[in-house]
Amino acid sequence: MAIDINAYQKIQSNLAEQQVCLVAVSKTKPKEDIEALYALGQRDFGENYVQELLEKQPQLPDDIRWHFIGHLQTNKVKYIVPIVHLIHGVDSYKLLVEINKQAQKLEKIVECLLQVYIASEETKFGFDAIELADLFQADLSALTHIKIVGLMGMASFTTDESVIRKEFVTLKKHYELFASKTAFNIQFHTLSMGMSSDYWIAIEEGSTMVRIGSLLFGKR
Ligand SMILES: *Cc1c(COP(=O)(O)O)cnc(C)c1O
Repeated sequence: MAIDINAYQKIQSNLAEQQVCLVAVSKTKPKEDIEALYALGQRDFGENYVQELLEKQPQLPDDIRWHFIGHLQTNKVKYIVPIVHLIHGVDSYKLLVEINKQAQKLEKIVECLLQVYIASEETKFGFDAIELADLFQADLSALTHIKIVGLMGMASFTTDESVIRKEFVTLKKHYELFASKTAFNIQFHTLSMGMSSDYWIAIEEGSTMVRIGSLLFGKR
């Protein structure tokens, strides 16, 4: 077990002061590590892989809020909808429709963040600015069992802070633009940006939720 209790307590108290929610990213880590953070009071955990989440969830306390932060395939939605608290990486209308369909079956409302493409890399998923605008132009009123509560994004993989900061500023601008588009199923309150290497920049630029893995659990 390699969780860093000191780091957790420092990061957690710092984030709490700034009213930023900490999602502890536990992908590839054993359930014992999650239990150790849970014992310190942590309740929000993030996982990237459907199979791994389905294996861990039944073995861990019921009051954990599971965040799905990975790339979600349409055919896997049905497996996570029963247990997920927030889906961060929604990157297509088709995915929203499928989440809505599965949530409706369970008479549940599933909260979602739209992933926005802000990095300069080809490998990152998400809506671009035009796709995002199109989505909010569309009639989403048939999606009665989802709630879009904000945006999520990942900055470029670089050590150049100014590049990262610029990307976060862009995401925050999108957030502010669409935060005014409220409807029964659109109510922004969460901007998920920042990971171990860049969370402090993200917070300076307006993040309300950070996803931190390696600083807490050690390298993967
Ligand atoms: C793995 C992952 C994280 C956490 O990364 P760290 O660098 O370990 O903090 C955050 N967000 C997403 C989407 C991830 O896939």
